[in-house]
Amino acid sequence: MSTQLLEFSPTIEGTITDEVAGITSSAEGAASTWMSRGACSQTNPDVFFPHNGVGVEVAKAICAGCRVTGPCLEYALAHRIEHGVWGGCSERQRRRILRDRRAATRGTGLVAVAA
Ligand code: SF4
Repeated sequence: MSTQLLEFSPTIEGTITDEVAGITSSAEGAASTWMSRGACSQTNPDVFFPHNGVGVEVAKAICAGCRVTGPCLEYALAHRIEHGVWGGCSERQRRRILRDRRAATRGTGLVAVAA
């Protein structure tokens, strides 16, 4: 999947679905299921790609009331989405989670994967 596709917000499910139609996997199909249930489904996608700390908090507040925070976060982690707020986590938080998972699996022979 290209990086550009990963920068789409889960609030624009139709666009994501259309863009990835040619490379859709079963995981992508599952993603569209939770995306449609997201608390952000009726919110301007720009909210989830803020340019300041205040904007991040606004997006995270919406995520706090979302029923699909877990799948959303794991999707962003699995696809190494670098921009925006996903699953209630900022870009910095997601980088930290990935770093912690790598550290936790280092030397164990295990591989960190998204659930
Ligand atoms: S966790 Fe946040 S970004 Fe993800 S679907 Fe829910 S409201 Fe949208």
